[in-house]
Amino acid sequence: MIAIYPGSFDPITLGHLDIIERGGRLFEQIIVVVLINPHKTPLFSVSQRLQQIRLATQHVPNITVDSYNGLTVDYARTQQAQVLLRGLRVLSDFEGELQMAHTNKTLSTQIETVFLATSNEYSFLSSSLVKEIAKFGGPIDHLVPQHVAIDIYQCYANKTHPRSSPNNQHSPLPSQESHPLLDWTPTQKQREPER
Ligand code: ADP
Repeated sequence: MIAIYPGSFDPITLGHLDIIERGGRLFEQIIVVVLINPHKTPLFSVSQRLQQIRLATQHVPNITVDSYNGLTVDYARTQQAQVLLRGLRVLSDFEGELQMAHTNKTLSTQIETVFLATSNEYSFLSSSLVKEIAKFGGPIDHLVPQHVAIDIYQCYANKTHPRSSPNNQHSPLPSQESHPLLDWTPTQKQREPER
């Protein structure tokens, strides 16, 4: 059975990678497809995201990486895929995901949405969270593949990569700005997830 794993992947995180690896064990083939979402302003171009995903998934044998501008079910049909794979994290994901699954069912009765529950250590993790941490100079190496961390820091040109600075000191957070992540402290588990 062929499964499509659609998303923005702006950028791919270890949470996405976990779903890809586990999905790869369940399905004959996994097609990770970067969907072009007109409502989002991405940090990375589609070709950058494709490159990041390809590098991060070299060890997954049955994977293809692609992009698509259109409806996921239409793309699934072109690939003869029967499954749309999605990840579920917290309860707040559920409402949107269920709505999407039901909507897709009205567009194609042949395609099933399958949800994989996030692994515990990635339940808090999202691409937006990673970008917010990096923007304020925090460490993200434990949240995304190494090459993605470098790409993100290059985007926020004024920030130094925490690992490249002496004593591994993080860039100071801007003192004037109020931001929800200013008080965010990762737990030990989150700092050192099992790989
Ligand atoms: P979208 O814009 O379609 O939500 P994302 O790239 O944010 O695209 O996510 C793609 C899929 O990966 C979604 O099903 C999302 O719930 C899932 N996902 C994202 N982060 C995680 C995570 N940390 N653990 C499990 N699934 C995740």
